[in-house]
Amino acid sequence: MCISSKGCIITPAMLRRGRNLDSAVQALGVYRARIGPRPVDRLTWALRLAQRPLSAITPADWENIRHEIAAALEASGHGDESVQSDRLPDVEKAQKIHADLANFFGQLLLGEEIRPDSFRSVRSPTYRFNRGSGKWERWDHGKRDPVDVLLEQLIPTYGHLIKVCAAPPARGEAGERCGTWFVAWRPPQIFCSPKCHNRAGAKAFREKKKEKDKRKRRRRATSRSSSAR
Ligand SMILES: [Zn+2]
Repeated sequence: MCISSKGCIITPAMLRRGRNLDSAVQALGVYRARIGPRPVDRLTWALRLAQRPLSAITPADWENIRHEIAAALEASGHGDESVQSDRLPDVEKAQKIHADLANFFGQLLLGEEIRPDSFRSVRSPTYRFNRGSGKWERWDHGKRDPVDVLLEQLIPTYGHLIKVCAAPPARGEAGERCGTWFVAWRPPQIFCSPKCHNRAGAKAFREKKKEKDKRKRRRRATSRSSSAR
């Protein structure tokens, strides 16, 4: 259909482009919904992505991940050119972001100062934990990479709530732990999920009971030996 009054200047190709643009915007909306509306949801998404083992990510997964990264970058609220131009990263870039995120959270959980690759020559770290405030502080050092754009608002606000789940795993050796990286709702929370919370609670209960039974048996043995005297 021609919608111009000055003759048909809207070509089918233009309409197709328009539709493609619409569907791209719509698709990004789907990925935005997948990440979640709140900044803390974005951090949870980033933590999950960082923990996905490379070997388990299929080509179809990478397609989703590329779009999720684009949606997350967009939600991070940066209109600057360098980020705009690589909004939808190719698979190679997405893989680099995946690896950089894993590296970043690994350092953060060790409580280490964070120095991204590109800042290696700079003496100051980009993030430093402030023991006084109990929070991570960001230091600006020029050129930002996508990981920095994704996290620069999130780490100073929620960085101190990122933890490693301390629950025993569903299956595994004694002394092992779930080990999932997660964002705690409250600072004292140490388990990643209600499942882990319950498993850890049940284990603590069993151990307490075992200890109690042992004490009871010991008491009985002592009273038997004293009455036999
Ligand atoms: Zn857990």
